[in-house]
Amino acid sequence: MDTPQTSSGAQRLLEPAAIEKLISALAGRGYTVIGPVVRDGAITYEEVRSAADLPAGWGAEQAAGRFRLVQRDDGALFGYGVGPRSPKKYLHPSEICLFKAESANGEFRVLNDRPPAPKYAFLGVRPCELAAIAAQDRVLLGDRFSDSIYRERRAQAFLVAVNCTEPGGTCFCASMGTGQAAAGGYDSLLTELVEPGRHVLVAQAGTPAGEELLDELGAEEAPAGVRQSAAAAVQAAGARMGRTVDTSGLQQALCDAFENPRFDLAAARCMSCGNCTLVCPTCFCVTVEDTSDVTVTKAERWRRWDSCFTQSFSYIHGGSVRQSPKSRYRQWLTHKFSSWVDQFGTPGCVGCGRCITWCPVGIDVTEELAAIHGA
Ligand code: SF4
Ligand code: SF4
Repeated sequence: MDTPQTSSGAQRLLEPAAIEKLISALAGRGYTVIGPVVRDGAITYEEVRSAADLPAGWGAEQAAGRFRLVQRDDGALFGYGVGPRSPKKYLHPSEICLFKAESANGEFRVLNDRPPAPKYAFLGVRPCELAAIAAQDRVLLGDRFSDSIYRERRAQAFLVAVNCTEPGGTCFCASMGTGQAAAGGYDSLLTELVEPGRHVLVAQAGTPAGEELLDELGAEEAPAGVRQSAAAAVQAAGARMGRTVDTSGLQQALCDAFENPRFDLAAARCMSCGNCTLVCPTCFCVTVEDTSDVTVTKAERWRRWDSCFTQSFSYIHGGSVRQSPKSRYRQWLTHKFSSWVDQFGTPGCVGCGRCITWCPVGIDVTEELAAIHGA
């Protein structure tokens, strides 16, 4: 991970076919390339070995509690809003064995056999996802006790970002100040331009490693007209976001809203399933579980994602301090948009819209905030 910075390099022109070479170049540097693929009716992040794995010609319709793949007629490689999975799945894994132990002949031994951290290159990272990675950096690295699992994975990650030109119906990154154009934090940045008779990508570097990658692709400087059209496509995407949030005064409004009846309405619908926290690219909470085999000679300690929507999450000395769905929903909302700012200096939300799309009952965080903020 080179020091992230805002791009100052030349903007270069890539044909879509160059993405095959880009994936090969990253694999040749020893990276496992993670990129968007169509799987199980959604666009998600998986390992990609070739450009043929990318969701060419696929878009997505998104609304509260709804995600539908739609076929595009232009072959766009990145013509969709974000799917359920984000780079969090790879940098802050959903489950990982912390250590194993065994006992034999009266001796207890801790096995230090965790494999080396995987070396990931992410292709197609959206600006809101860059902001989410920055948020996780603050939480998991910005303290005296940094998370060694995250640190090792993050240190060697390579990020190829893609500006948004097709926001999803539940996106609101523009109002959170985290999109739709990437402001930094990437190694290389692509903007896909799909117009009648023209399908190209404009590429720029954000780090020396990103520059070296583009050099290897042999990309020439993009003509001024292409650069302007690409910038205009990104600019226009900001006005087509499906949702907005008024953030002015929001932090205090939530502090003052403890007894707001809107929490009762949300709680009456909320199933405490935890989907919203699993898909959220900034949620970081984990739990630790110990297991042993039936002979009680082998034990393992696992770390797994947890969710503030479970009762056990707030178990303190004899019971949960948040027993009602209302208290858990209120905790989640006020942490994301209020107390997270006190802790880490920014909101814990980057406006990706996943918690709206993947909530099975369609609870819409932007509607809840508007109701409380305007109350
Ligand atoms: S709270 Fe919702 S919209 Fe905000 S970052 Fe998390 S999933 Fe995305
Ligand atoms: S996804 Fe929806 S129903 Fe599930 S815990 Fe979150 S708000 Fe509640």
